[in-house]
Amino acid sequence: MRLEVLNIDDLKKTLNLDDIGQEMYGLISKLYPICRSITGNGIRETLNIIKELVPVDIHEVPAGTRVFDWTVPKEWNIKDAYVLNSKGKKIIDFKKSNLHVLGYSVPIQKKVSLAELKEHLFTLPDQPECIPYRTSYYKETWGFCLSHNQFLSLEDDEYEVFIDSSLEEGYLTYGEYYLKGETEDEVLISCHCCHPSLCNDNLSGMALATFLAKFLSRFSLSYSYRFLFIPGSIGSITWLALNESKTNHIKHGLVVACVGDSGKSTYKKSRQGDAEIDKVVIHVLKHSGKDYEIMDFSPYGYDERQYCSPGFNLPVGCLMRTPHGCFPEYHTSADNLDFIKSEFLTDSFSKYLSVLNVLEANKKYLNTNPKCEPQLGKRGLYGAIGGQKINPFNQFAMLWVLNLSDGDHTLLDIAERSGLEFDLIRNAAELLLKHNLLKEHPE
Ligand SMILES: [Zn+2]
Repeated sequence: MRLEVLNIDDLKKTLNLDDIGQEMYGLISKLYPICRSITGNGIRETLNIIKELVPVDIHEVPAGTRVFDWTVPKEWNIKDAYVLNSKGKKIIDFKKSNLHVLGYSVPIQKKVSLAELKEHLFTLPDQPECIPYRTSYYKETWGFCLSHNQFLSLEDDEYEVFIDSSLEEGYLTYGEYYLKGETEDEVLISCHCCHPSLCNDNLSGMALATFLAKFLSRFSLSYSYRFLFIPGSIGSITWLALNESKTNHIKHGLVVACVGDSGKSTYKKSRQGDAEIDKVVIHVLKHSGKDYEIMDFSPYGYDERQYCSPGFNLPVGCLMRTPHGCFPEYHTSADNLDFIKSEFLTDSFSKYLSVLNVLEANKKYLNTNPKCEPQLGKRGLYGAIGGQKINPFNQFAMLWVLNLSDGDHTLLDIAERSGLEFDLIRNAAELLLKHNLLKEHPE
């Protein structure tokens, strides 16, 4: 059953947000062991698990397809990989952690000296306990990642390296879920799903997008929503190249990444900088009662780089917690199931809902009685005169809505100008609409 309109208050009554945080964490735990990359069976398996919750369409784009200045790469798959010492002991084992293999490693089986092996090893000397996450998508090579402590303990020996992988013509796989609203105007929610066993970056984003899609599908929405589950960079480039004609429908967008860590919420503005999505997210964070940070757009980070490239310049920002590269666990084995918590996933989910709630309701109205104030008292809308207890904030909110509903201001503009929270302004507008003191702007 679809509920009438998206309203965060109603939604919060029908949902237990803490349960959703736990469900998101559960999905992340299920997806964590899968070895994902920008192509291959890991991403397919991941999308099939998401499909149990949300009916995503799975698209396959052939390797070699030209997408703007790029080419869809060959498909990479891996079954096993290890390094044996001369006694036949596995000293590095892909089956223990998929981060041990350099992503996109070509198949290999050979005996190597320690010196030759070292040329293919990657470590983090500053974080000697952690395995780094490394890839080589566009240069064919092979390699292993390991903790620096283990690296230091390697003895002079003859080693056998084995990587059972394939790099062949195949497909780039991505998931898309389109939720039709009242209008063709769209909100884009995009997340990358190309990382192996890493939680905050970006299983957290995939889980949040999945549960957002699942719950929005219960409501009648004014916007249509497009959810993209794509490999980072090459996925958004591919989607944009193949769907250019659809991009003019995208009125607002958010890239979801790193939403499960304990850090404060961070919003990276769209390239436009003052798009409605920028104003809405900043308003929501300002009234969240929690610490937050706003960052200007920069042409690095996640897929907002592609959505905000000058040829598209879409109003797409990135709402995250701690940004990529700003937490020491980033791109290491420490970005694991202990690093994220369901309470932070819940908090991020709640903020995303609040943002969509404002977007859905951010309309313009006209005061039907613009010459002097209407007499609110005789309508029971002022103080206790009508016998109704109306809290003073509602009164201020009504006066602001009446004063600024001149066709030039949206409800968010009024919320910002008055310093009041959007929901107070929205509730005041609904009350005034009921009393015919406001009407919808014809626009
Ligand atoms: Zn990453």
